Amino acid sequence: MGKILSILFLLVLVGAGVGAYFFTRDMTPPEAALTPDRAATGSKREFTLTARDASGVKAVKISVLQAQKETVIVNKTFEPAQREVVEKFTLEQAGLREGQFDLNMVVTDKSVFNFGAGNTTRISKTMALDNRAPVINVLSQAHIIKQGGACGVVYQVNKDVERSGVIVGDMFFPGYKLDTGNYACIFAFPWNMDPARFQPRLYAEDSAGNERSITFRYQAKATKFKHDSINVGDDFLQSKMPQFETIYPDIKDPAQLYIKVNRDLRKENVAKLVELSKNTSPKMLWDGGPFLRLPNAAPRAAFGDGRTYMYKNQRIDEETHLGVDLASLENAQVPAAQSGKVIFTGFFGIYGNAVVIDHGWGLQTIYSHLSQISAKVGDDVKKGEIIGNTGATGLAAGDHLHFGIILGGIEIQPIEWWDPHWIKDNITSKFQ
Ligand SMILES: [Zn+2]
Repeated sequence: MGKILSILFLLVLVGAGVGAYFFTRDMTPPEAALTPDRAATGSKREFTLTARDASGVKAVKISVLQAQKETVIVNKTFEPAQREVVEKFTLEQAGLREGQFDLNMVVTDKSVFNFGAGNTTRISKTMALDNRAPVINVLSQAHIIKQGGACGVVYQVNKDVERSGVIVGDMFFPGYKLDTGNYACIFAFPWNMDPARFQPRLYAEDSAGNERSITFRYQAKATKFKHDSINVGDDFLQSKMPQFETIYPDIKDPAQLYIKVNRDLRKENVAKLVELSKNTSPKMLWDGGPFLRLPNAAPRAAFGDGRTYMYKNQRIDEETHLGVDLASLENAQVPAAQSGKVIFTGFFGIYGNAVVIDHGWGLQTIYSHLSQISAKVGDDVKKGEIIGNTGATGLAAGDHLHFGIILGGIEIQPIEWWDPHWIKDNITSKFQ
């Protein structure tokens, strides 16, 4: 019995020794990082200090120093120590005056190294307190915009901005700096937005995090979109559905597969356009002139056409046609509507084989249902350069080009961009 006890005692001793070794061997000071990390800040901006340590964060102290006066903002000890501490704070209670100050952060870990004092990380940032919100001055005159269409606005901001642009509902259309130092923004009146809710506002945020948003004069016009009915026949399903069988292998019934593609795959494709829109150039890549329309082509369907889909006299779906259908000869050559960079080529769901070209400033074009694609992702294309041939891939009933113009990820009325007068009056003349 005595022998067993002494072995147990020995084991406890060894365990304590190993524990003490691991406990004391943390000689690494905590990792600590401040976000956002900027040279200027307003007092309302929320900062986050994130601190991590293997033996645990024991204490965090955050203070400001201005004119030899120190003010403590956060002073916390953690019992037990935390692997990770995320401390959010503002400078609102710090009593700072406009101008320079130091933000000091001290993070201590639980290590018994340093005779129990632990390891310490100190971060010190010299910043300027700036609580002056940017002032926005609208320079362009008329802002006439149709539901589904677009409009340009040019404005001035009295200081450097982190971002600026136009807010429409929950969408944000960024503005871009012109050579003149002014900013230009092309914004949309989304086709599906209730005209009563369309109240665009100009917005700017400076590098200190101060924000301003203002209203500006505009004239918005509601659009009465057409509505028609489309009969989905069995022949159509037999020829079109096989290309989607691998996407939804569980759906065997062609009509059910059609509903799935027309409804859910369409939503995914719309989301993908939003994703692609983030890949836009901050430089205008087009020449400011009109966009090319497929030559010698007859219009088949317009932008914003509401559609009720019928199958065997049953209403199976409701969608909106976003783009313009243009029919020419079979396999007609498709020119790039404007200069830009190719950002997508390949199978694009309901659009079939498609090409997406970025023209900069959030403006992009899509060419759908192609039989052949001759452009590659990354190509810089010139206006008129051939990027593929028309076809009937995706949800196309016959050979045609489905052409779409996208702004900030949403489809807008292409007709406006084919009209040199519209472009000049509503977009480019404002930039000068
Ligand atoms: Zn179409």
